[in-house]
Amino acid sequence: MSAVVLDGRAVAATMRAELADAAGALAAQGRPAALAVVQVAGDPASARYLRAIEKTCETTGIGYAGHVLPADATQEQLEALLVRLSANSSVNGILLHVPLPAGFDADAAVLRIDPRKDVDGVHPVNVGLLAAGRGGMVPNTPAGGMELLRRYGIDVAGRRAVVVGRSAIVGRPMALLLLHAHATVTIAHSRTRDLAGLVRDAEIIVAATGRARIITAEMVRPGAVVVDFGMNSGPDGALVGDVDAAVAAVAGYLTPVPGGTGPMTTMLLLANVLRAARTTT
Ligand code: NDP
Repeated sequence: MSAVVLDGRAVAATMRAELADAAGALAAQGRPAALAVVQVAGDPASARYLRAIEKTCETTGIGYAGHVLPADATQEQLEALLVRLSANSSVNGILLHVPLPAGFDADAAVLRIDPRKDVDGVHPVNVGLLAAGRGGMVPNTPAGGMELLRRYGIDVAGRRAVVVGRSAIVGRPMALLLLHAHATVTIAHSRTRDLAGLVRDAEIIVAATGRARIITAEMVRPGAVVVDFGMNSGPDGALVGDVDAAVAAVAGYLTPVPGGTGPMTTMLLLANVLRAARTTT
């Protein structure tokens, strides 16, 4: 048996067209959507990621404004910029790129973002709304994973899900989203005992550890749905997931790396920008 590939590139292409239509409709109502991205200079990897977001904004007709603070900027300058953008009615979404350089306090900075414009879903108001099951802005990567499952018609209700990883931006919100969709959810992490036994029992496996190929074929129940968020550098520098390639022969459904959850993240970010445009204009 070979797993059905959950093709994030194809779904992202469909979503890109849908987002362009929705952005066009908002613009026609005189409510053009715009994203502001804030970063502190210095990290070339983030420059590539942000360029990809800018390009997708261009192709979908969503406004993009990059704000790059110099490496010697202060926390006060960063917070003042976030306050200004929050008050600016022509900015609908604000993305603060993290990690920030040493000396900056990202948690304090995030508090300066209007929660309705927090398109990354990291403001404590949005974290609380998600925990309470009351909507709010959801972090893009787990939202993208759920969207992939939805578009492939995979119903998680009543099924046993194990989420490996409990970070604030991937594992924990993914576990909450699965719970809200009525899965029976277990969260595993670095202190979990008998990870293999726990994963083997799961009908849905979510890997968000940043540990290359930690989920092996022996750990996967035949027919399981496997969602791999991992983006790790392999020995030859190639991008590899948290799930070993041999899992494809055992699983029922699998997100590939690359081309699975990765391309979805930017689409869900822009979906949040449009949502913010509807609520803040
Ligand atoms: P973090 O490092 O913040 O969290 C990793 C989590 O995995 C922690 O909860 C940690 O446990 C757990 N973990 C680590 N080692 C093990 C282990 N041996 N057994 C069980 N659990 C373990 O990573 P992120 O959540 O930020 O990212 C996870 C992965 O997702 C990374 O590969 C990252 O690159 C990728 N990513 C992908 C995105 C996408 O667009 N697809 C976007 C963002 C991230 P503990 O809490 O106990 O330390």
